[in-house]
Amino acid sequence: MEGTGTLNLQDLFGRDVFNDTVMQQRLPKKVYQKLKRVIEDGEELDLQTADIIAHEMKEWAMEMGATHYTHWFQPLTGVTAEKHDSFITAPLPSGKVLMSLSGKELIKGEPDASSFPSGGLRATFEARGYTIWDCTSPAFVRQDEGGATLCIPTAFCSYTGEALDQKTPLLRSMEAINKEGIRLLRLFGNTTSKKVTPSVGAEQEYFIIDREKYLKRPDLIFTGRTLFGAPAPKGQELDDHYFGTLRPRIASYMHDVNLELWKLGVPAKTQHNEAAPAQHELAPIYEKANVATDHNQIIMQTLKRVATRHGLRCLLDEKPFAGVNGSGKHDNWSLTTDDGINLLDPGRTPHENIQFLLILCCILKAVDDHADLLRESASDIGNEERLGGMEAPPAVISVFLGEQLEDVISQLVSTGHVDRSKKGEKLLTGVSTLSDINKDATDRNRTSPFAFTGNKFEFRMVGSRDSIAPANVVLNTTIAEAFRDACDELEGAEDFGSAVHDLIKKYATDHQRIIFNGNGYSDSWVHEAKRRGLPNLRSMVDAVPALTSDRTVKMFSDFHVFTKSELEARTEVKYETYSKDMNIEARTMLDMCGKQYLPAMIRYAEHLAHTANEIASLGIDPAAEKSLLIRVNELVGQTQEKMQELRSAVNEAERYPAGRSQAVQFKDRVVPAMRALRIPVDEAELIVDKKDWPVPSYADLMFEV
Ligand code: ADP
Ligand code: MG
Repeated sequence: MEGTGTLNLQDLFGRDVFNDTVMQQRLPKKVYQKLKRVIEDGEELDLQTADIIAHEMKEWAMEMGATHYTHWFQPLTGVTAEKHDSFITAPLPSGKVLMSLSGKELIKGEPDASSFPSGGLRATFEARGYTIWDCTSPAFVRQDEGGATLCIPTAFCSYTGEALDQKTPLLRSMEAINKEGIRLLRLFGNTTSKKVTPSVGAEQEYFIIDREKYLKRPDLIFTGRTLFGAPAPKGQELDDHYFGTLRPRIASYMHDVNLELWKLGVPAKTQHNEAAPAQHELAPIYEKANVATDHNQIIMQTLKRVATRHGLRCLLDEKPFAGVNGSGKHDNWSLTTDDGINLLDPGRTPHENIQFLLILCCILKAVDDHADLLRESASDIGNEERLGGMEAPPAVISVFLGEQLEDVISQLVSTGHVDRSKKGEKLLTGVSTLSDINKDATDRNRTSPFAFTGNKFEFRMVGSRDSIAPANVVLNTTIAEAFRDACDELEGAEDFGSAVHDLIKKYATDHQRIIFNGNGYSDSWVHEAKRRGLPNLRSMVDAVPALTSDRTVKMFSDFHVFTKSELEARTEVKYETYSKDMNIEARTMLDMCGKQYLPAMIRYAEHLAHTANEIASLGIDPAAEKSLLIRVNELVGQTQEKMQELRSAVNEAERYPAGRSQAVQFKDRVVPAMRALRIPVDEAELIVDKKDWPVPSYADLMFEV
C-alpha cells in the first residue's frame, strides 16, 4: 500500500501504463509516429515496427517488475480472460535465459478458444481463436498478489474472423458512428473535424460487505446474490446512507481502490455512498468508449481485489438484496470530435442550434426504432430482479429530455418553428446567507432509463456487473444508422435549410412517443407506454429475440458490426447463460434448504416442543410455545413442499434442449418456484432464534461493515 502522507497524485497517475508519454520517451521517433498513425487513422502495422514496439514495451514492463505478459480480452462470459506467458525464451548454452517479446507475440495470441462461449460459432474441434492487439487502448502493468504482469488489451476472434468478444463489435461500431458523424458534420459546413468518437463515463454501483460473513452465505458465494433473507428492520427508508459520511473502514478501502486505479491510468473521480445500506458508487471521468470499457473492467476487478485485502467483499450483482435498491451502471454517452467539440452540447439557445436539433432528433429516432434492442443490451440475469422494480429504471425504454428540450420539440411538432428556449431561471433558496444560483435549464429525472443530462445522455439500465460494451455497441450503431438516413436525405437536397428543417420536424413528430418526462416508476406509465406502443420487455428471455430481428440484422450488417451468424451465436450464448445461471441459483436454494434451513427449523421446533412439555409439567398452559411450534412446523412442511416443486421444475427444465425453449422453461417454471420457496424460509427466519439461524441475516450483512 502506498503511504498517503507523501502521495503525489500527479506522479502516481498512469504510472503503470504504457501511455503516450512513455511511448514518446522510449520509441524511436519514426516508430512512435507510425504507431500514432495506426492508432489514430487505422493504418496497417507492419511486423518490423511491431517488433520494435514489443521490445520497448517488454523492457519497460520488466523495469516495472513484470515477469509475464498476457493478452487481456473480454470473452462473452462478462468478465475478462487472460493467459499468462513469461518473457523467458529457450535457455542459452550458458544456462541463462533471454527475455523477449516479439512483434508477433504482441500483435497476435492464440489461446485455446474452445472453452469460451461461442454460441456455436466454433465447433469444439476447431479450437483456434485469436487475440489481436487493440493498440487504441494502452497496455499496462498490473501489480497484484501474483506479481507484476504486462496486460495487453486485445480483441478476440475465431479462426474465421467472427467476433467472440465484447471488444471487436465495439470497435466496429465506433467506426460506424465516426463515418456517419463526419458525414453529418460536413453537411453543416464543418470541414475541420477529422474524427467523431463516442465518449463514455460509466458510473459503477456496488455493495461492500464483510468477507467473513460473505463466506457464511452459500448463495452469495455461488450466485453473487442472496436467494433468501428476511428484510432487516431498517432498510433505506430514512435515506440516511445516501451521500452519508463514509465509515472509516469503507473510506480506507476506497482510498486504496483509488490509488490502484490511478496507477493504472483510470481517472477515478467521484465516490459516495449510494441509496441502500452498504451500497456505494465510483465514477471515473469519461473517456473514449473502448478505453472506458476496458477501464470499467479494471474498476470492477480492482474493487474486488482490494476488498479481499481489507477483509471485505465487493458484490457487483445487480440485486444482491431483495427490498433495497439494486446496482446499475449509468452509461453516460456523448459524441466528441478530435478538435474537442461535444456534439451533444445544446449551447445556450438550442432552438438556434440546428445541428444539435438534428442530432437530438436522430437519437430519438434511433432509440424509438430500436428500443427493444437497447433494452436487450442491458439484459442479464442479475437485472431480472432489478429492471421494472420500484427503484430501478423500468423495463420500458423512454427518453427524458427535460423541460427546455421538450418544449423545443413540442414547438417543432405543433408549429414547425422554434422561436424561443426556456432559460434557466434563478433558483431562490429563501435563505439570505445562500446566494441564489442559476438553476439548470434542465432538471434531473432519476426514474428515466435514458435521460438527457445537459450535454450527454445517461443510459441507466446497464447492469452493475456487466460489460458496458453491448450497450455502447447499440447506441453507436443505431445512432450511426439514424445519421446515415438523415445524410442520405439531406446530401442531395436543393435547399439545405428547408430540407433540414422539414427533416427535424418529421423525426420529432414520428418519434415523439418515446419522450417521457414523468415518473418512470409509476404504474400509470406502464399503461401509457402500452398505449403508445412502446415495448415492455420484463425479462431477458423476452428481450433476446431483438438481437436477431430483421431490423437488427439489417442494421448491424449494413455497418459491419455483426453478421447474422454472430448475432445468432450471441443469442445462443444468452439463452444458455440464462438457463445455466438459473439452474445454479435453483440448486443453491435446494442445497441451502436441505442442509441449513430445514435442519435449523427442525431444531428450533424440537426446542419448542421440549419447552412446551417442561412448561406443561409445571401445570402451566404452554399455549404460546405451542402456537409457535405449530407455525414452525407448518413452515417446515411448506418448505419441503416448495422444495419438491422447485426440484421437479428444475429437473424438467434440464430435459429441454439448450436454447430458447429451455430458457423459457426456467423463466416460466423455475423462477416462480424459486420465489415460492423463499417465502416460508424468510418467514421462519423471523421466528427462529437468531443464534440458531445458519447464515448471517440481511441486517448483519448490510449494517455491520
Ligand atoms: P451527473 O451528475 O449528471 O451524473 P457527473 O458530472 O457526475 O454527472 O458525471 C457522471 C459521469 O458522466 C462521469 O463519468 C462523467 O465523466 C461523465 N460525463 C460527463 N460529461 C460527459 C460527456 N460529455 N460524455 C460522456 N460522459 C460524460
Ligand atoms: Mg449520473
